[in-house]
Amino acid sequence: MALVTLAAESRNLIDGELVDASNGKTFENLNPATEEILGTTADATPDDMERAVAAARRAFDESDWSVDPAFRQKCLRQLHQGLLEEKEQFRSIVVHEAGAPVSTTPFMQIDESIEMVAYWADLAGRYEYETEMSEVMFLGRPQRRILRREPIGVVGAITPWNVPFYLNLTKIAAALAAGNTCVLKPAPDTPWSGTHIGKVIAERTEIPAGVVQIVASSDHAIGEILSTDSRVDAVSFTGSTQTGRRIMACAAETIKKVFLELGGKSATIVLDDADFAKVCPAAAMTCIHGGQGCAIATRWLVPRSRYDEAVALIKTAFEAWNYGDPTNPKNLQGPQVSRRQQERVLAFIEQGKAEGARCLVGGGKPEGKGFYVEPTLFVDVDPQMTIAQEEIFGPVLCVIPYEDDADAIRIANDSKYGLSGGVQGGEEKRSLDVARRIRTGTLAVNGGQWFHVDTPFGGYKQSGVGRENGVMGFEELLESKVIALPGR
Ligand code: NAD
Repeated sequence: MALVTLAAESRNLIDGELVDASNGKTFENLNPATEEILGTTADATPDDMERAVAAARRAFDESDWSVDPAFRQKCLRQLHQGLLEEKEQFRSIVVHEAGAPVSTTPFMQIDESIEMVAYWADLAGRYEYETEMSEVMFLGRPQRRILRREPIGVVGAITPWNVPFYLNLTKIAAALAAGNTCVLKPAPDTPWSGTHIGKVIAERTEIPAGVVQIVASSDHAIGEILSTDSRVDAVSFTGSTQTGRRIMACAAETIKKVFLELGGKSATIVLDDADFAKVCPAAAMTCIHGGQGCAIATRWLVPRSRYDEAVALIKTAFEAWNYGDPTNPKNLQGPQVSRRQQERVLAFIEQGKAEGARCLVGGGKPEGKGFYVEPTLFVDVDPQMTIAQEEIFGPVLCVIPYEDDADAIRIANDSKYGLSGGVQGGEEKRSLDVARRIRTGTLAVNGGQWFHVDTPFGGYKQSGVGRENGVMGFEELLESKVIALPGR
């Protein structure tokens, strides 16, 4: 798959204009695979963010955007078409700035994400924003109630760098479909997966000025304005649990709605009646995109009765795993997004070794340029070890032995996170029974795939608050209003 030459938009979108930072400053965008500078991006200031929030507020309060679903549908269809025309540019951007393997881009990173906009356009048009409830009696008189769903207002969206185009797009498109205006602050490590969407919006759609702002900055504090400013009605955040906690605390001051999609430490339970030869090699998929995915299963729980067999199969899969240059279609793992992330992952690996886990494959970084980490397999991991409890966000798998089904469920649930996971077994009923007892937002049973734009996605416990995608995710972006009238 040949990549087109990078020609990314690097200015911010504020109030309908593609603009440089008000002080003219820029910040560098680095290719994590080569450590070369790809170019620079407008480095928004607090004044720029202030202007962006004001524009979003004005567009919500003073235009018909929030009350005209047919126009929103038309604009989202234009956005879908515009993104299709720029698809190869987005592919090139995400491979170069995020180090995403090109082989993974047809799925969530690019092609599938663009198709999701068609879903949001359709939902904007067909959703029933007003329904009539059944009549009730009050003091002997019948009462009618109209239930209206109205947009929340201005949505502040804050995103990370791992699947940047998907996350930027899903947050913008869902917010717009529901009739909100929005200010997106993309991650500083992957700014063009945000700013280039701004170019498509400005040049290929009729989305009115102020409805979408895209404000990139090297300064994380610029994002904090979105969780503190009283003109922002809701914050939709994906990223680390630590930042999510901070956003929730900041949002408390103005009682904002908060949607948080945070970290995970998901477990796949392999039951003793599973087809091990078929199932165990999939454990290497932990390393896809350098393990930089919140829902990846990074703990594999294996029955002690078949432990050696499972470990041997997983080890073989890890040794055969292709990683390296993300532009090479053979590779499913590229670099970590930054030196900081590479060092963070390597520190976890050292801690795993120090705490007594057995490192069977990898455990270091290869020679040469790029922020790579070797696919790393730890076995004989105790569930209480740091590597079994903390989100590493790297190509690191922990294999943990268990005694029986109840023990596997206990270990899987022994986590502050609750995002996703899986069960692999022979008999479907037994696998489902186990799945029902795992406290996470999504689960894959016997290789099933839950990810789709109509699937509500989010976490239990410290993996987050609320659900993204699907009608449930759409309704998170709506307020409810009940209007009562005397019955007929
Ligand atoms: P982060 O949570 O620090 O940053 C995510 C986004 O939040 C970025 O756009 C950042 O600029 C912004 N931000 C940071 N501080 C903010 C604040 N106080 N107020 C408002 N916005 C703020 O994540 P990171 O540094 O990019 O990655 C660190 C760790 O986060 C990773 O190692 C991984 O564990 C986790 N992570 C999780 C996901 C996920 O999807 N769950 C995605 C990326 C990273």
